[in-house]
Amino acid sequence: DLAPLRRALLSVSDKTGLIELGHDLAKRGVELLSTGGSAKALRDAGLDVKDVADVTGFPEMMDGRVKTLHPVVHGGLLARRDLEGHVAAMEEHNIGPIDLLVVNLYPFEEAVAKGADYDTCIENIDIGGPAMIRSSAKNHAFVTVVTDVEDYAALRAELDANDGQTTYAFRQRQAQIAYGRTAAYDTAVSTWMANAIGNKEPRRRTFTGTFTQTLRYGENSHQSAAFYTDGTNRPGVATAQQHQGKELSYNNINDTDAAFELVAEFDPANGPAVAIIKHANPCGVGQGATLLEAYTKAFDCDRTSAFGGIVALNQPLDEDTAKAIVEIFTEVVIAPGASDAAKAVFATKKNLRLLTTDGLPDPQEQSLAYRQVAGGMLVQDKDTDDLRIEDLKVVTKVEPTDDQLKDLLFAWKVAKHTKSNAIVYVKDGATVGVGAGQMSRLDSALIAAKKAERMADAMGLPQPLTIGSAVASDAFFPFADGLMEAAAAGATCVIQPGGSMRDDEVIKAADEAGIAMVFTGTRHFRH
Ligand code: 5GP
Repeated sequence: DLAPLRRALLSVSDKTGLIELGHDLAKRGVELLSTGGSAKALRDAGLDVKDVADVTGFPEMMDGRVKTLHPVVHGGLLARRDLEGHVAAMEEHNIGPIDLLVVNLYPFEEAVAKGADYDTCIENIDIGGPAMIRSSAKNHAFVTVVTDVEDYAALRAELDANDGQTTYAFRQRQAQIAYGRTAAYDTAVSTWMANAIGNKEPRRRTFTGTFTQTLRYGENSHQSAAFYTDGTNRPGVATAQQHQGKELSYNNINDTDAAFELVAEFDPANGPAVAIIKHANPCGVGQGATLLEAYTKAFDCDRTSAFGGIVALNQPLDEDTAKAIVEIFTEVVIAPGASDAAKAVFATKKNLRLLTTDGLPDPQEQSLAYRQVAGGMLVQDKDTDDLRIEDLKVVTKVEPTDDQLKDLLFAWKVAKHTKSNAIVYVKDGATVGVGAGQMSRLDSALIAAKKAERMADAMGLPQPLTIGSAVASDAFFPFADGLMEAAAAGATCVIQPGGSMRDDEVIKAADEAGIAMVFTGTRHFRH
């Protein structure tokens, strides 16, 4: 199953490692064919190269759109060396075999990531490259294809180990990688175009990611895992710069994302905000006059759970806040920047990971959310719903005050980022009780209230902070019991979608408790 290597075609946009590879192949007596820029680079390095144009008899034309699209190239890649008919066709048409193809494609993904305009992106769609990759991958019985600079070393090792030839297993592996590359490439083109023209038809969507990193393991140590980026280059955990600490784990990345997306709901123009996350759920969110105040408010919601948490800030980390954060064990801190003084504070905590970004994620930016199920995948638009005060409908006799409205909207934002069933108590710009991920809404209300009681005990407060709070429910109360529990915990106003069969009962209970309630008309399930 060894295939000889007599002639290679090298056509690469990313010229990294090209010269070394060219020298190595030449040393083995391999004839080199190449396209314009690649040929020039090889020739400048003193290598003997034949231009593809000389082989095809056609110059590269139309700004490079047509370089290698010719039977002399594709015949050389696709001909079976073991079929008389194929061999005869090669001889008849003067087609030489091409045993190795080294191609990396026009940098389409980079062009999109850089925000290139429509026409520039179109010009960055490689045509001949993917065609050659697909031809050689199909003919992997005889042909070796390399589509990634990182595989040059593996190719050389393979040639070393097999007396300048390649094994079938190696060619199969390379073909499999090659089809993955062209699939990802066309998906990147289609995804970019879907965004550019605004096509949101669910059945016309394609998706893939660009591999960036192998993770030590997945959610648990027996699961392997990797991190992929989607090419949008948006501010967030995928594009953040890590300043210190160990490599991020799968769970770190997931939780850091949850934290940063939640805190991004709080416009920095309205003041500093901080979110602390554990297992993708908020254990505290605070807004204050200073970042330190916002952090302290978030921390005071549930100091117990905050241990080992992930902290996200909506403004650059400052020294005071950094000092407060290092007082307990924290896994990750993410912020749109950090002062030198803050970095110096963190430098003493070797395990604490600090990530900074060029901005906040945009909560209104459209994107897709995926979830895998056995035998399939669910795809939906991200939840970008943005509630305005005008959207609210007061349904009780008592109207919420302006201050209550502020806390209600705060609670609603947090509930959007809390696993269902979510019940979130907020007072004076800080969560004071979060009930997340329970199978009954009543239990979420109870758990949140219980935690507030425990915090009051721990902090020596005369009463839990839920007294006089605003409470949000991510979906409607199906019965009055959840609402009554919230009222018993001291909530004086409620925000919820409404729309239950028993809304009347729930409104009646609110009126009897003398609290204000508003309906949003939309819900924020998050599973
Ligand atoms: P070079 O820098 O060698 O001039 O160009 C290398 C790039 O051209 C590679 O990324 C390769 O995939 C691409 N390429 C090779 N043949 C063709 C072709 O016929 N059409 C287009 N559009 N690109 C090609």
